Amino acid sequence: MLEFRVKNNYPPGGRFFYEVPETKTFFSSSAGRQDLLDKIRQHYAVNRLRAPENLAALVDDFICRHVPDGFCDGDDDGKPRSPFRNLTFWQVEKKTRAAMVGRRLTAPDEAEKRAAICLSCSLHVRNMCTSCNGLLAVVKALVGSQVTNIASFVGACGATGCLVAAISHLAEPKVCYEGSLPTGCWLAREDGTHG
Ligand code: SF4
Repeated sequence: MLEFRVKNNYPPGGRFFYEVPETKTFFSSSAGRQDLLDKIRQHYAVNRLRAPENLAALVDDFICRHVPDGFCDGDDDGKPRSPFRNLTFWQVEKKTRAAMVGRRLTAPDEAEKRAAICLSCSLHVRNMCTSCNGLLAVVKALVGSQVTNIASFVGACGATGCLVAAISHLAEPKVCYEGSLPTGCWLAREDGTHG
């Protein structure tokens, strides 16, 4: 389990966030850790599920796996961590535009299916708010009326540094990336190879 180096610090980006594994539902809060825990516990109760006793530790561990190196400490169990966790909003925008320019788009339902896969990917970076910093507007500018319902729930791909809501629309889903892709990823390298 990873832990915050300074327990009372807010995560980079100013929001606490977590995805409930049982329901794949994403929660975030700028009001603090306790506010987020309250929301998650309510969600478990509404769904007649038992919240884990170590929920607070699980939340911190989840956040630690999606924020820049140095913010947390601990054993990361060998789970993949994104090479792009340190990207700024500007870099994400630049990488996304570079990946999309001049490329054909696929059908919106295919883009939606791909984005849904990203939601449960360990390399999905969700510590940036796409609607409050203009990134969602970038997606709309790139894919126009094809923008999907899931666009406001997904963040950046930690393998490519691009916005999932944009690159999920590529007719040929080939993007330059570093490292390796997790099992189940729908992306391929620019030369068409995977892995
Ligand atoms: S594109 Fe692949 S590596 Fe990137 S977030 Fe989606 S599933 Fe994960």
